[in-house]
Amino acid sequence: MRKTIAVVPGDGIGVEVTEAALDVLKAMFNAENMELQLETYLIGGASLDAFGEPIKDEVVEACKKADAVLLGAVGGPAWDNLPAEKRPEKALLRLRKELGLYNNLRPVKVYPSLTDASTLREEVVSGVDLLVVRELTGGLYFGLPKETKPHKETGGEQAVDSMVYHTFEIERIVRDAFEAARKRRRKLTSVDKANILVTSQLWRKTVERLAKEYPDVEVEHMLVDNCAMQLVRNPKQFDVIVTENMFGDILSDEAAMLTGSIGMLPSASLGTGTGMYEPVHGSAPDIAGKNIANPLATIASVAMMLRFSLDLPAMADTLETAIQEILSEGYRCADLTQGAAHIVGTREMAELIKERVLKKV
Ligand code: NAD
Repeated sequence: MRKTIAVVPGDGIGVEVTEAALDVLKAMFNAENMELQLETYLIGGASLDAFGEPIKDEVVEACKKADAVLLGAVGGPAWDNLPAEKRPEKALLRLRKELGLYNNLRPVKVYPSLTDASTLREEVVSGVDLLVVRELTGGLYFGLPKETKPHKETGGEQAVDSMVYHTFEIERIVRDAFEAARKRRRKLTSVDKANILVTSQLWRKTVERLAKEYPDVEVEHMLVDNCAMQLVRNPKQFDVIVTENMFGDILSDEAAMLTGSIGMLPSASLGTGTGMYEPVHGSAPDIAGKNIANPLATIASVAMMLRFSLDLPAMADTLETAIQEILSEGYRCADLTQGAAHIVGTREMAELIKERVLKKV
């Protein structure tokens, strides 16, 4: 069996964490005598420096043809002041749009050995196991018009972002969320701002209509401001959270902190084309190049890739178990020092996971 992965490490720690995760993946494929073809491309700031654009057309095409895409992170201070069209993030938005990746899955699981790592009290976070299902190709980040223009009356400028949703966009993500809830604890929390936004009113109406097809799933609606509060007050009440693009962006970072570090959170983006896998964190320029970034979010993203795109669920289970075991033995990177028996670097953490996985295959 041969699988082709398009690898787009990007910038900053994106390069280090993808290298670490691929080290583990290559060893797993080797051990199983399976062929892994890795095609690595520049993206984000690295592509801007080399080619003057955040992503080249041929990279988008290669990603479309691959079995899966593994992404590190893009961005950094060197590219912060470029015009919108030239910003590194443009590459991500383009990939999401062109690969049809409307569904972003962000599991948030507090590992038993890390309950003391969160800034929240242990009894609040222990046992948290939730899934944020974020709509990824609609809403404020894509809606038109999106522009800045001079404003005569005030003498300044006026900037407009537009929040746009169509029924079909809401339907497909909400259906995916209901299906995900069916495979878990059968509870779905739909998050909106229906007291103010018309897009949220359409969202809520659509959820209520679809709920009739899933009588076995308990559904509740929650306003986004309340959800932000409930996530830190009592996160164990949540099973699956489904929400629109920007709310999901913010809430999933908040949820990430329940686990102690953003360096622990994986994600999968699925849709009509090739699936894309990436850690939730950014390029962390403050720690780039020091071999201290936590690679576990990316390694766990590879586990999601094995499960959702490569149809290798047993390998995904093996990898996830290895992560859990290494953590329970007290190994941590520098982002999770509390309760750590051994602090290790990016490469060393990957090596530990690799050794553990190889004992299991
Ligand atoms: P960030 O996630 O890069 O970093 C936030 C903080 O978390 C930093 O202190 C960083 O050191 C720490 N951190 C992040 N990942 C870590 C890891 N794996 N191990 C240990 N510590 C980790 O967010 P930011 O600082 O707001 O953004 C930095 C750059 O990344 C910006 O250019 C931003 O636009 C970009 N960004 C990219 C993505 C993406 O590519 N998907 C997502 C978010 C931010």
